Amino acid sequence: MTKMMKAVVKTKPTHGGELIQVPIPEIGAKDVLVKVAATAICGTDFHIYEWNEWAQQTIKIPQIMGHELAGYVVKVGEQVTSLKEGDFISAETHIPCGVCYQCKTGRMHVCQNMTIFGVHQNGVFAEYAVVPEVVAWKNDPAMSPELAPLQEPLGNAIDTILSDQITGLTVFMPGVGPLGQLGILVAKAAGVGKLIVSDVNPYRLERAEELGADVVLDARKDDVVSTIMEVTKGNGVDVVAEMSGNPIALNQGLKVLTPGGRLSLLGLFNKPVELDLNNDVIFKSIKVNGVTGRQMFSTWYKAAALINSGLVDFNKIVTHTFPLEQWEEGMKLMESGNCGKIVLTVD
Ligand SMILES: [Zn+2]
Ligand SMILES: [Zn+2]
Repeated sequence: MTKMMKAVVKTKPTHGGELIQVPIPEIGAKDVLVKVAATAICGTDFHIYEWNEWAQQTIKIPQIMGHELAGYVVKVGEQVTSLKEGDFISAETHIPCGVCYQCKTGRMHVCQNMTIFGVHQNGVFAEYAVVPEVVAWKNDPAMSPELAPLQEPLGNAIDTILSDQITGLTVFMPGVGPLGQLGILVAKAAGVGKLIVSDVNPYRLERAEELGADVVLDARKDDVVSTIMEVTKGNGVDVVAEMSGNPIALNQGLKVLTPGGRLSLLGLFNKPVELDLNNDVIFKSIKVNGVTGRQMFSTWYKAAALINSGLVDFNKIVTHTFPLEQWEEGMKLMESGNCGKIVLTVD
């Protein structure tokens, strides 16, 4: 008889999802089977739940949702060499092909044939998950299972904030959702000179303050540009780390970015954005970099080291923990925006 497990599955092409029994998956020669201990909800999971346009075009149904993982290896494929039963692992969720031009030139994170957990294949909101050895990340056994899944989104924040150094510099970060909140801790740990953030959600503004942002601007009522120019004595900021995906916030960021500064973009925009490239990019001679996924695997070393260092307390990022069975409560919280990272624990 096939052994069954609980899993949160996108079963219908509409808003929602279902916790149902599905067969425990089989592994291939180069995979391990993981007993999931904890998983965290990501914006991507929420988009699949709410069934936005991107999800409608991308997700094939039925599919197990989720991708941020911590768990224990319970079965090892014949060709796996680096993992054994009992290992405590997380996983890079972007699975590279290993043979395309990008993979062969040290840029696996932008592989041409990328598949993503919980997007192109079954995810980890389940009791068990199949993880290819190539993306498994062995955790320090001392790392808490609740924090281990956060290394994945933390990697996004690290690649955005620290794509160049920020020690002693002034950073403006529009958007303090869960990724922005991680960004605050990354910036603090890296010795940011002054961290200015903006958002429109009162809960998130309060969170930003608690997590240690130096200047917290309410974009609904504060004059973001003139306040930042005042705070920076007319110089503007050295770095803009864009986490909001809001065109107004991006343009505010470009206006306050000091000539020769850096713009790093992580937030996704709903549609093409109008920019004054002449005045805000070319004549200012700024550097622009887009951030997708995480550098494999240099960013994972940084994320793990940052959590293990204790320089900042990443427990503060987890605002809610639910058992997997209550996954939908987590989705509703995501919808309200009134949360940091939400962790789902699995028995
Ligand atoms: Zn994620
Ligand atoms: Zn590739």
